[in-house]
This record gives sequence, C-alpha cells and structure tokens, in this order.
Amino acid sequence: MKKIILKLVFILYVLEMNAQYPEKLYPVYTGTDLGLTYTRTMSSFRIWSPIAEQAELLLYKDGENGTPLKSHEMEKGFAGTWFKELKGDWKGTFYVFRVKINGNWSTEVTDPYAKAVGINGKKAMVINLAETNPEGWIKDKSPGFSRLNRPTDAVIYELHIRDASISPSSGIKYKGKYLGLSETETKSTAGLTTGLDHFKELGVTHIHLLPFFDYNSVDESKPDKTQYNWGYDPLNYNVPEGSYSTNAYDGITRIKELKQLIQQFHRNGLRIIMDVVYNHTGLTNESNFNQLVPGYYYRHNKDGSFSNATGCNNETASEMPMMRKFMMESLVYWVKEYHIDGFRFDLMGVHDITTMNLISDELHKIKPDILLYGEGWTSGASPLPDSSRALKKNAARLHHIAVFSDDMRDGIKGSVFDSNDRGFASGKPGTEESVKFGIVAAGKYPQVDYGKVDYSKEPYAAGPWNVINYCECHDNNTLWDKIGLSCPDVPEADRKKMHQLALTIVLTSQGIPFLHAGTEFLRTKKDVENSYKSDDSINAIDWDRKKEELALNNYIISLIHIRKAHPAFRMASPDEISKYLHFDNQVPAGTIAYTINSEALKDSWRNIWVAFNGSSEDKTLDLPFGKWDTGIDTNGSTGSYTGQVLLKRYSALILYHE
Ligand code: CA
Repeated sequence: MKKIILKLVFILYVLEMNAQYPEKLYPVYTGTDLGLTYTRTMSSFRIWSPIAEQAELLLYKDGENGTPLKSHEMEKGFAGTWFKELKGDWKGTFYVFRVKINGNWSTEVTDPYAKAVGINGKKAMVINLAETNPEGWIKDKSPGFSRLNRPTDAVIYELHIRDASISPSSGIKYKGKYLGLSETETKSTAGLTTGLDHFKELGVTHIHLLPFFDYNSVDESKPDKTQYNWGYDPLNYNVPEGSYSTNAYDGITRIKELKQLIQQFHRNGLRIIMDVVYNHTGLTNESNFNQLVPGYYYRHNKDGSFSNATGCNNETASEMPMMRKFMMESLVYWVKEYHIDGFRFDLMGVHDITTMNLISDELHKIKPDILLYGEGWTSGASPLPDSSRALKKNAARLHHIAVFSDDMRDGIKGSVFDSNDRGFASGKPGTEESVKFGIVAAGKYPQVDYGKVDYSKEPYAAGPWNVINYCECHDNNTLWDKIGLSCPDVPEADRKKMHQLALTIVLTSQGIPFLHAGTEFLRTKKDVENSYKSDDSINAIDWDRKKEELALNNYIISLIHIRKAHPAFRMASPDEISKYLHFDNQVPAGTIAYTINSEALKDSWRNIWVAFNGSSEDKTLDLPFGKWDTGIDTNGSTGSYTGQVLLKRYSALILYHE
C-alpha cells in the first residue's frame, strides 16, 4: 500500500512539474553544442532559454568589469536555444549573455556551460582547450589500484587542496595551490615527507579532493586576504576554481595547473576523485541557470518558493530533462577532459534515482572502474518523494554507486550531532551491533541483530561495493577532537588507543574504506565543529604532527598494507560475507570478534581472527581452534596464541593461521 501511495505522489509531482513547465514551452534540446564551440576560424555560441524573447552575446576584452567590445543579437535556434556564430579566431575574448524575458533584460549571465572563465568566474573565456594540456597529457593514464580494480580494493583519502600545503610545516612551495599538490620530495620541518609523497607512502589508492570546480565564496582577486571555504557553493560547474591557481585572471592557467596535478597523481599511482555539488547552486535567483530559464532548474514548494532540501537556499531538479542533461554532460566532460577517476556526490539524496543510474551507466561505459559514491541523505525535506531519490535506504537500487554509512561512523565514535556522545571505540555500551552492521558492509547478514543497530533497522547495501565505511570526514569534529570532547576525563594515552581502534575497524571492515586527511597523525581542528569557512589556523594540516604521532602514522601504513595484501578484507559479494565471515557469539560486552575463512578467498592466510575491545577494561576472549600468529596488535605485541587471549582496553588484534 505504501509503495502505491508513494508512486501516486510521484506521478502527481511529475504532472505538476509538467503543468508548470510544459514541453511545448520548454522543449528539450538534444544537441551537444550548448555553450561555446571553438575553432581557429569560427566561434559559435548556443544557450537554452526557451521563454526568452530576445538574446544577446556580449564580448569583452577581459574577465573583469568594463564595457563590452561589441554586442551581438542572437538568433532563435532549435528547441528553445539561441545561437550566434562569429567568423575568425576569438581566442582570448571573454563573453557573457543577456536574455529578455517578459519585457525585461536580465543582468549579464555567465555561460552555464563555460569551460573557461576569468577572475571570480564572472565572464566565460574563449579558449582552445588543446592549449591547456601540460606536456605528456595525451599519454596520461589512470593507474591501476589492484589486480581487478574493484571498488572494495580502493582506500579513499579525503583532502582539501588548500589544507594540504598551506601550513608553513608543509615544506611545499606553491602553498594552497594545485601546483603545491604536484610537488614531490617535500619535507616537513622535522624532515618527514609531506604532500604527495606522504599520500603515496601511506598506500591509499584514491585521493578525494573537496570541491575544485569554480565556487563562489572565495574572492579570487585577493589571494593574500585571509579567506577560506570548503567550496560547496558552485558557480561554474565545468571550470576549475581560480583561487587554487597561480593566476585566476587567465582562463587557461587554472585548467592547465589542475591537469598538472592530476597527471602527477596518476604518475605516482594515485587516482583522483572529484567532490561534486549538483544538488544546489551557490546563487539562487541570480544563478546563471535561473537567469536564463527562471524556475526551471529547481524544485519548488507549493507556494512557488524555492524548496530547500540542501539547507543552501535552493535544490536543483535532476528529474527535469535539461538539468539531467546538464549533470550528465558535465560529469562526462570532467572524465574525458580531466581524466577524473571518480565522483563523490554531495547530498546525493537530493537527486532522483533515475538520473543517478543514467549517469552511472554512462560513466562506467567510459571508465569501467570509475568509483562513484555519495551522501545518501539531504539537509531538509524535498518535494520529490523519498522513494524516487538516491537516499541511503534506496542504495540497493543504485547502479554501482556507494553510499556513506553514518551507521558505521556514529557506531564507532558516537553521534555527530552530540559532541558528548561516545561510540564503540570510546567505550559506549550497546554499540556492538552498529559496528557489526558496518563490518558486514550494511548488507543482509544472519548474525546482525538489526533492531539494535543505531540508525538503519534493516540492511540497505546490495553488496560491499555499495557502501563507504568511515568514522570521520571534513564535516563535524575530527575524530581526535570528537574523542577529546566526549572523553574529557580519559587520559591521552587511552584516547590515542581509541583513535587507533576506530581507524582499525574502518580499515578491516568489508566495504569501501574512507579516511579523512591527517587522521593518521591525529588531525585536530581545535574543537571547531564546522570549519567550512574557518581560517587556515583551524583547517591547515599541521605536518609537524606527523613526527609527534609517527607511531600511529606507521601503524596506518601497515594496516593499509594488510588490507591490500589480503582479499579477505575486500570481499565482493554479500554471499561471500555470509559464507566466510562468522562472529563469535560468546564474547564479553564491549568486544567484537570474528573469524574469516580466508583460504576460501584465495588469501595467503588460511584463517583470520579479528577482535576489537572498545571497553575501558581488559577482556579475555576464547580463541577458535589451533595456534594463531599475530598479524597486527594495536599494542605492538607479536607472538602466538592458543586457547585464550587477553585483549587490552580500547585495542584491536588481528591473528591468523598461516
Ligand atoms: Ca571561484
């Protein structure tokens, strides 16, 4: 019954949208030449603005203010488009559009399809894309990250471009820039590797970069002013952000420098994931979409106002054909032009499932081992029914797209909405099932009591490839700060053990592991909960901490190495997990232990026994049959065990049969 009602709600929604934007007035343009088409002998421009009465193309000498060199009336083209062709070579010229709707001329609109822009993304630029390629770009190839390049073989590392290098301790020359991340052989004050060399040394496979499309919040003309943003406020979707380039005025520099970064990462065996934010635009009424086609690209409340499932004043309508087309073309462009290896969809729960699946199918055709994942939630209510959106609970309906497991995240460390709350790794009783749910990758599994899982009361993942396991990301307090806030009376040595235990759970669980940059040396944001516009003193990665926390850093390196060396931690299907992974039922409260029949998975270890003690007391656990050797002990012990083992407080142990 519920399904029928949801279906009806969806049909009513579509009917309403069709009534508001009838295809007769808003015909779908199926051509692939929206925006600029450049050759040395001609530039042609096309925009979609079906209800405009007139449209103009304005040419400028530079990307800042000033008076136009010339304005050209555009011709009405197919399916609601406006078109202008200019003979000659227009390379280096900047351009904008104006449209007249209901007798009123719009302000100047940047081409939503722009591939190059001037300062602060105000004006698009005519460029020859071939001239943005660094040397050797044609030969650039994404490195393999395992024998089969399966999603569960990935180890993702989430990084903000500026944070990586801006601290004086980074030893990096181009601080805060694309080029800074391309530097090798950089050293911290203490003489340890930083930046790219460090990521490589860590053994992660994919670097997920926070938004680097052109965003609105940072003034690119003031590189020396104190300003900072994560970048979740899109301005020009198909252009790199200017503040990370060495010259934001020239449209070519930012493109070339981003490509250099990607090329350098690829050369060093690392793949690049782009954080994309198609769920809303940074501007609302004034956005380029809304200037050209008022209302069309967004969802609305019953009263006609912009709906706001994103908490950012508007939400886009991926189900509208031209928005869907925009997303598709934009993503394909990033893969083809920039060789991007994956996307993380911000508030993916805003997008409709059909669009996400069309996108995934297309991107996998171009790059079969592309990695796609997103946040399966929203920041508020959406008029599009839940059953139609790419929410976590609908994860199994997504084609090769993973969702973040907040169940796992908060099960390990406590709720992100309550800084005092603890999780399994910090000694909170009753959290075992949430962590077990994460260990088996949020799928159907006989030994999880779903009623006791913190958020999801039923499995949602169709397979381990369908879920991202993490305990920390750029949002909310860092893991180290969270542990400090929730355990103020616990000695530092024990809090460090909690941190290590939390990361051990993430890196040994089935599914796709995800780490927040700097967590390997206890990254702190000085207890700032939401640092999206805090300055560098909060956000910068302090590379001197690496020396101070070198033991943890080196432990994470060995743990990642173990994960990559042992397919038992990277099973491919829920069937394998049910068949080969078994929890020990008779374990003391506050502990979790499981055995993997790894021989069956072609692992070099015959059996693996993993145990976690998240409680404040040492616990004795019974071992399964036989003599066990130590793979990893968070307390640093090595040796063999038979019969029983003492698991110290806040610690993890991985044992194996050869
Ligand atoms: Ca910008």
